[in-house]
Amino acid sequence: MFDKTKIKFKPFNKKVWLATPTMHGEELKYMQDAFEKNWMSTVGENINEVEKMIAEKVGCKYGVALASGTSSLHLAIKLAGIKLYGLPDLCKGTLKRKKVFCSDLTFCATINPITYEGGIPVFIDSEYETWNMCPKALEKAFEIYPDVKLIVLANLYGTPAKIDEIRKIAKKYGALIVEDAAESLGATYKGKQTGTFGEYNCISFNGNKIITGSSGGMFLTNSLEDANKVRKWSTQAREDAPWYQHEEIGYNYRMSNVIAGVVRGQIPYLEEHIRQKKAIYERYKTGLAGLPIKMNSYEECSEPNFWLSCMIIDKEAMCKQVRDEHKALYIPEKGKSCPTEILERLAEYNAEGRPIWKPLSSEPIFRSCDIITKDGSFRAKTNAYIAGGIENIGLDIFERGLCLPSDNKMTVEEQDKVIEIIRACFE
Ligand SMILES: *Cc1c(COP(=O)(O)O)cnc(C)c1O
Repeated sequence: MFDKTKIKFKPFNKKVWLATPTMHGEELKYMQDAFEKNWMSTVGENINEVEKMIAEKVGCKYGVALASGTSSLHLAIKLAGIKLYGLPDLCKGTLKRKKVFCSDLTFCATINPITYEGGIPVFIDSEYETWNMCPKALEKAFEIYPDVKLIVLANLYGTPAKIDEIRKIAKKYGALIVEDAAESLGATYKGKQTGTFGEYNCISFNGNKIITGSSGGMFLTNSLEDANKVRKWSTQAREDAPWYQHEEIGYNYRMSNVIAGVVRGQIPYLEEHIRQKKAIYERYKTGLAGLPIKMNSYEECSEPNFWLSCMIIDKEAMCKQVRDEHKALYIPEKGKSCPTEILERLAEYNAEGRPIWKPLSSEPIFRSCDIITKDGSFRAKTNAYIAGGIENIGLDIFERGLCLPSDNKMTVEEQDKVIEIIRACFE
């Protein structure tokens, strides 16, 4: 229970953010270059360089620079759909009401594109070690729906999923993987970068990601043919003809050469950003030691990019907290706390935390979809976890977890104060 009189400092003058862009100067140089050469559209040296540099860094053969991570996921899922189910009729999606297994505890952009292509998401619960797709739940899902042929897998908050286990199951059932590495650029699993483990892989340069173009994303694959297809679709699917010849449906999804200038300037700083984020994570780990909480964890064989530091409160140390669709309430209790209390106290001191992504199976729009846990399958309803008795790990992480201020421009002094506020919540 938080006691204000015990905190000896005032709210931060300058807001301490969750994660904001960190610019270095070279970004402006490449933007300026685009301006001076008048390559201000979706063609130019910055785009070409960014595609080459990212593909090389990640270790995938081909990169296609796009307007966003979401557009990259859309085209990846469309490609997979065509590969699996053939070309659709005009005005129909490629997935044709086919079920697709996907991460449950993630940002909506991971799975919205499944519905753009007419597919039906089937949500797979998380595990506690990495908070990502649970291999046991995935195996269960294939027992229930053995015909499913596509898995969309996210690496949450920069932590690689249990990739080997998931790939093994995918192989057993002949399913393709689309890897959503939007949050995990630079993270490795058994020495290999994320963004290489799916047939198709997606990253994001959105403003709060580990490096940014202000917006933007990239599609990654080892198939030249598929990379060319995505590049073509992303520029309205023009054929090689003197006029506008169209034999396929296209999209306006290409990255701008100005945005690519920002990304190009950021790429050399990826490792520095990861070092800073890791230092933030380690300082939280030390600073919060002894409290009834755990930091978001990862497997020993992996090295996250530590994009966001998160914590989860032990069950016994949770005070009473209720959330409806739009609001949260809690009852303060000595020696206990909850995400709502901590987020409110942080906000009072002008620091930004955030709840964990709400499991998508619990979102009103997806409540008609199945969620499959390691214990079985059920229709997600608001109260299914509380009343139903099947343990939904993603929902439990949402209830007890939160994202901490993780901006790599946060000073040690600021972070010490954030830690003090959190500690005071458990007094
Ligand atoms: C940010 C994000 C995306 C989407 O990227 P945009 O560039 O914002 O479209 C997709 N998936 C996850 C997990 C993300 O965090």
